[in-house]
Amino acid sequence: MSTTAATEIRNVETLVAGEWRGATQGADLEVRDPADLREVVARVPALTATDIDSAYAAAIRGARAWGRTSGLDRGAVLLRTASLLRDRSAPIVADLVREMGKTRAEASIELTKAADFFEYYGGLARSATGYSLNDGRPGTTTSVRYEPVGVVLAITPWNDPLLTPARKLAPALACGNAVLLKPATDTPLVSVRLARALVDAGLPAEVLSVLTGRGADISAALLDDPRLAAVTFTGSNEVGAAIHASVSGRNLRVQTELGGKNATVVLADADLTLAADTIVAAAFAQAGQRCTATSRVIVDRRVSAGLLQLLRTRVRALALGPGGEPGTAMGPVINERHRVAVLDHVNAAVAAGATVAEGGTAPDGERLAHGCFVRPTILTGVTADMDIWREEVFGPVLALLEVDGFDEAVAAVNDSEFGLAAALFTRDLSHANLFLDRADTGQVAVNLPTSGWDVHHPFGGFKASGSPFKEQGTEALHFYSRVKTCAVRFAW
Ligand code: NAD
Repeated sequence: MSTTAATEIRNVETLVAGEWRGATQGADLEVRDPADLREVVARVPALTATDIDSAYAAAIRGARAWGRTSGLDRGAVLLRTASLLRDRSAPIVADLVREMGKTRAEASIELTKAADFFEYYGGLARSATGYSLNDGRPGTTTSVRYEPVGVVLAITPWNDPLLTPARKLAPALACGNAVLLKPATDTPLVSVRLARALVDAGLPAEVLSVLTGRGADISAALLDDPRLAAVTFTGSNEVGAAIHASVSGRNLRVQTELGGKNATVVLADADLTLAADTIVAAAFAQAGQRCTATSRVIVDRRVSAGLLQLLRTRVRALALGPGGEPGTAMGPVINERHRVAVLDHVNAAVAAGATVAEGGTAPDGERLAHGCFVRPTILTGVTADMDIWREEVFGPVLALLEVDGFDEAVAAVNDSEFGLAAALFTRDLSHANLFLDRADTGQVAVNLPTSGWDVHHPFGGFKASGSPFKEQGTEALHFYSRVKTCAVRFAW
């Protein structure tokens, strides 16, 4: 039975233009629990274009003050934020599970990694912000300075609602920018908690606004504003393309992290147990809703029956359930629309000739009937011309393709419009190194998952998976700073 009536629905305030604002009646967003859609977890303000205007005005003031703050002081704020996130892990993890549906273990990993981002960039903020160059003119020194770009708009998806904002906010703030964060409509709660931690850690409130609202209501106001200096977006290819179109011709910095169709190759000499354990973890964690999730397995025909057997055993053991319940290995997908879309992909694959080896449907029974659950699914008999092989599903669906040998496997990896991540299982050093050379993806791994890159590892895809600017590591700092070349003649 639903407990909505018995549970008080939280009204959450968000940070806009330096102040905390609640929702006015009728202008709010309901956050629902994907494990039980009858549960309204909270209400957050649905902001309008007028709110966006005031957020920009504050962000301009905030950027001016924060950009002049010493890197050491900026770093100290980020380091305190990391420690506040860890101190507050219990309520943040609880919200993450309720609004997104992932398991408590997955949410705890996300929190730790979000804190790591603030710690890493908090340390980097102390470092030198430029370098000197020789100058052929007598009595002259020339130097290069990195400056903040101004107001950065960060638009984030629902699959990692804390991690993705942290991945963008930490380097943007370390470099001295102000940020307007537009979280996904389904998952605004932990973004607001992140803003609380930053302000409590000493971030001047005008430096950050969290613009909760419907994309359709506020995206034009966000993107058309002349005060915007840079857009960093993580999400679908469709919205990424719309963002590029709407800011084109304005000389803005645009970073887009988009979809993936990540392949793992298993060669005949691979450790099949290691491969199966790794593939199942990379394919079904977060119900497959990770941009780096493994969604294609390319297996040498000689070992495909053995690998399939190992995969099936492991997938059958994955306990499906609400993310907050102990023992759950895989939670629901984000919402009902997405559940239907994932199952439509599976049904279309079957109609095209694929075979369901595991899963393929919603679970039976009353226990999970009100949530957005899809059973972990393995499809065999897949061919490279099928949509299931080419289109991103972003759900718990793994497709298997058989090939003959290394060259055919690499060709299958690269025969995709996407180029985010790829992995190879082999014991052969030559194939391992050739794979690093030949895989046309931004992230490549050998005997490791397609997912799971650390905060200091540059991250981002090639081809349709993303724009040239990488996130994470020191690479991220290039996007969030502009380069000024300065010359001083001190003797004449
Ligand atoms: P989405 O593109 O639908 O939404 C992303 C964000 O954009 C949300 O905040 C949404 O409200 C906002 N938005 C929607 N329409 C907009 C518009 N017209 N203008 C401006 N903003 C708008 O993506 P999603 O469904 O939230 O996330 C899933 C997608 O994200 C998948 O395609 C996945 O591959 C991708 N993703 C990529 C990475 C990566 O690093 N490459 C990481 C995670 C997710």
